[in-house]
Amino acid sequence: MIYYSTNGKAPIADLRKAVVKGLAEDRGLYMPERINKLPKAFFDDMKDMKFQDIAYNVASAFFGEDVDLDSLKDLVYDTLQFDCPVVKVKENIYSLELFHGPTLAFKDVGARFMARLLQYFIKEERGERKEERGEKGEVNVLVATSGDTGSAVANGFLGVDGIHVYVLYPKGKVSPIQECQFTTLGRNITAVEVDGVFDDCQALVKSAFMDAELNEHMKLTSANSINVARFLPQAFYYFNAVARITCQLVNPSTRQLVMCVPSGNFGNICAALFGHEMGLPIKRFIAANNANDVFYNYLQTGNYEPKPSVQTLANAMDVGDPSNFARIYDLYGKSHERISSLISGATYSDEQIRETMRQCYEETGYILDPHGACGYQALVDGLKPGEVGIFCETAHPAKFKEKVDEILGIDVEIPDRLAAFMKGEKQSVPMTKEFSDFKAFLMKQ
Ligand SMILES: *Cc1c(COP(=O)(O)O)cnc(C)c1O
Repeated sequence: MIYYSTNGKAPIADLRKAVVKGLAEDRGLYMPERINKLPKAFFDDMKDMKFQDIAYNVASAFFGEDVDLDSLKDLVYDTLQFDCPVVKVKENIYSLELFHGPTLAFKDVGARFMARLLQYFIKEERGERKEERGEKGEVNVLVATSGDTGSAVANGFLGVDGIHVYVLYPKGKVSPIQECQFTTLGRNITAVEVDGVFDDCQALVKSAFMDAELNEHMKLTSANSINVARFLPQAFYYFNAVARITCQLVNPSTRQLVMCVPSGNFGNICAALFGHEMGLPIKRFIAANNANDVFYNYLQTGNYEPKPSVQTLANAMDVGDPSNFARIYDLYGKSHERISSLISGATYSDEQIRETMRQCYEETGYILDPHGACGYQALVDGLKPGEVGIFCETAHPAKFKEKVDEILGIDVEIPDRLAAFMKGEKQSVPMTKEFSDFKAFLMKQ
């Protein structure tokens, strides 16, 4: 498969280059030249297939030309060792629980898949060079995080041979649980604690990619949702969701499914839209936002005007210039009419998020986290007669325990998996926000 840049000024790439480089030379995002439709027989059979097999079919359509099918199957099965249930919350509204992965984040799937795909290409290259593996990581992944991405990437790449990961996070600004998820792992994961804010971490990573001497010294790549290997696998979730809900509905043939995705950088919803292009029977989409309403405003006005993000209760969605907007814009031929007829928007203040969490808990007993609350409320407000809505619950409520406990007046149980991280010993490298210091550190590695 050939990948082109959304900015149209970079050379085309194959999958290997797109995954290893992440961003194209013209700073655009890579897009596959084709989106293969899946056959009708697959959609007919889907409801009787398990998650891994559904995902393998989807993965083959995207990656089957570039990765041998046995390895791809292995990679998909290794990534998806957990379930993604669709839970009925109330009449016509279902929660697609994306938080049953190793770090309880939906980002686990993309992170693990990317780690294994990168490893596959490293091995392939080694084979071509007929070399034994070196002692050090052959590829170095730099990732700046405000919390969730760091833990998913660190755990996804943990123990993956040939790759070393540096997680940069702002000192004192991530939750204790999140910090434990990437500072206690050791092995090929190094946590770098930056004396600054998230933007400083991101600036250090960007400067590193642009520094010629450093790139001469070591092979660097990024692992954020601009990478095709990280965002595309999220499409698996939506095929599985349609399969699972088909089994639950009394009259699935007349269903009109609405998929509602709480969105920040728009990688997750973008994967859902790719699924739609592959033939997934979803009638329409809703992008649910917190107070960061850049996409919502675009839908209303046709003008995309990025602005600085504001801090909210649903902090994984605090994005003022969603990077995957470029992909959505490209996917629909830059047509505002096509985009706004398929996708609608919603935006909620912190006060509305709190109110939604309380109301839903009182009415149904279901515990929403602040991100999922935006999705749930957008369905309550936007579902039309005859439609069935599914919203993504993107985080386990225990990940935002302090907030959820305070808002609902309960004591959310911490799953064992999360508690286990808390027992490890924290190890991190202290760092200033000066690039010269960060560079000196990397040059010694
Ligand atoms: C990352 C994240 C989101 C936003 O996903 P995007 O793909 O960036 O739109 C929403 N909720 C949670 C809990 C997240 O971690």
